[in-house]
Amino acid sequence: MLKIISGGSAYGARLITDQSFRRGDLIYRIEGHRFTEQPTYQTIQVGRNQHIEELGVIAYLNHSCQPNTLIDVTRMEVVAVRDIAVGEELNFFYPSTEWEMDRPFICLCGAPQCVRLVAGAKYLSVDTLSRYFINQHVREMIFETLAQTVTVERDA
Ligand SMILES: [Zn+2]
Repeated sequence: MLKIISGGSAYGARLITDQSFRRGDLIYRIEGHRFTEQPTYQTIQVGRNQHIEELGVIAYLNHSCQPNTLIDVTRMEVVAVRDIAVGEELNFFYPSTEWEMDRPFICLCGAPQCVRLVAGAKYLSVDTLSRYFINQHVREMIFETLAQTVTVERDA
């Protein structure tokens, strides 16, 4: 079971697990959501112009630059990326789904590799993004941006 705990973190509510998981375990299957073209701070991006809302408990997954879960939007699964103990807060790396976020913020996760400004994958280097699981739609947008950059340099 996943429990929503309000307060106690920089982000307000957080999502706590009362069971342990092993790396690779399925934590949660995303169901019952609705698709929208309008991103908000409560949506998750699943395609170039497609987002999902009404996410239930996973709307309370906070961001971390050293996350313990990933969200695979192709499979609609939340998966453990390392062993997770009872009582731990669950979190994921927001730029792994979000290209350009509706509400950017300064990260306070405290991880050594903290990216500081969490505004979406568009604002991070390929080097930084390569440390994480990144969803297909975000990878496609990264490659397109790189291709445009190469074209501009060739023309200059
Ligand atoms: Zn951080």
